[in-house]
Amino acid sequence: MSRKVRTRFAPSPTGYMHIGNLRTALFEYLIAKHDNGDFLLRIEDTDQGRKVEGAVDIIYKTLKDVGLNWDEGPDIGGNFGPYIQSERLPMYKGYAEELVKTGHAHYCFCSEEEIEAQRKEAESLGISFKFDDPCKHLDAKEVQERIERGDPYVIRQTISNVGETSFDDMVYGHIEFDGDLLDEQILLKSDGYPTYNFANIIDDHTMEISHVVRGNEYLSSTPKYNLIYDAYGWERPTYVHVPPVMKDEKHKLSKRNGDASFQDLVAKGYLPAAIINYIALLGWAPPTEQEIYTLEELIDVFDVSRISRSPAIFDIDKLTWMNGVYLRSMDEDTYFETVRPYLEKAVKGPYSHREIAKIIQPRIDILNQIEEAVDFFDQPGDYDLEMYRHKKMKSTPETALTALKAAREAIAGIQDWTEENVHETLLALPKEMGMKNGQVLWPVRTAVSGKQFTPGGAIEIVHILGKDESLARIDQGIARLEEALA
Ligand code: GLU
Repeated sequence: MSRKVRTRFAPSPTGYMHIGNLRTALFEYLIAKHDNGDFLLRIEDTDQGRKVEGAVDIIYKTLKDVGLNWDEGPDIGGNFGPYIQSERLPMYKGYAEELVKTGHAHYCFCSEEEIEAQRKEAESLGISFKFDDPCKHLDAKEVQERIERGDPYVIRQTISNVGETSFDDMVYGHIEFDGDLLDEQILLKSDGYPTYNFANIIDDHTMEISHVVRGNEYLSSTPKYNLIYDAYGWERPTYVHVPPVMKDEKHKLSKRNGDASFQDLVAKGYLPAAIINYIALLGWAPPTEQEIYTLEELIDVFDVSRISRSPAIFDIDKLTWMNGVYLRSMDEDTYFETVRPYLEKAVKGPYSHREIAKIIQPRIDILNQIEEAVDFFDQPGDYDLEMYRHKKMKSTPETALTALKAAREAIAGIQDWTEENVHETLLALPKEMGMKNGQVLWPVRTAVSGKQFTPGGAIEIVHILGKDESLARIDQGIARLEEALA
């Protein structure tokens, strides 16, 4: 009988969410949910030196922001708790002692210096180092005495005469190892804490995890873990090792290299929904050309067999494009609420944020582009008069002056200030004057914005600025042109 699919996300609380880790969480979530299984959250905090205040809250918040809701975890409990490793300490020791009893682990009293000496010797002989632990040969009585005496010790895995050992990984396929080359890793540290190498097995087994999904850096340790599963007579989990997320061909994406975490991306104006959609495509190939997916759709189409073995390269331009797609496809209210804080910060003048939001929607991909796109509302750009010269628009400073004067008159005459009326008035002008549209609209847009590129055209901007402000800016343009051309 196949077991219920249960996956776990097991982050260490480091204070930020690495993109590769979030992708692992997503794959774990999708594998579980695709089969109506359970997705668990387990906090791996046995490395006390790396503890960061508030780090667990960042994990909760990130997963919630992207919609990866867990079925069991430290905050909501479940039948397999506790879900924080440091709260599970007593049980690891018992399990380790059980392995000692069956000959699959042993006490080791060696000091760092003794291990280092062996390493140096191997180096000088040019052979690869594998610690040959003299403590393996201590008799039980001596071990007992030393423990009672209070000698510090660790518990190490005992590996002897294993021969060839193998397992199947769902991504990397059939993997064989020479078991006797595996190092006798520490399972329980001298401070009584388990190592990751031990805790992951005990936790995954006792939490009835069916699929272990994690970075491929754990692939080479997995044979050691399997020996321990076998030693207890436990069923091994199904392994899904995933390739790393890279910055480029050579470098892994890492916080240490100053690369973006989920928090950094959000701070840069990326939407959680777009981020999670994009990272689904990192190392996983969708079955069709479709690239935009809701989480629900991903649950439906996700299939482990489409996870690639090759590293995925994080392409910020692609994420930016995708973020733009998300921004443009939002319904009006959600979109407005999303951009509103940015607009409120960038535009203090008495202009309609809703109108401004509308004109920037087709033109921004990330929220951090908003400020620069709308800064001219409060203060027009400090422009050079040469900006009135535009070849394609057939505009020169001379034609611009004529156009601005006419536009000033026309705008001043608008009674009912609607966008429609501004539109009609400004588009009637070129016809009346025998000019091209661009010859009128380009100078108007230049005068009211002072910028080469703006979201929205002259008509939309004039309408948002209102009559008085538009006239004031156009007057300013006229005055400057007259002075220059005199
Ligand atoms: N705490 C480990 C990490 O963050 C988890 C690895 C695993 O999923 O087993 O790398």
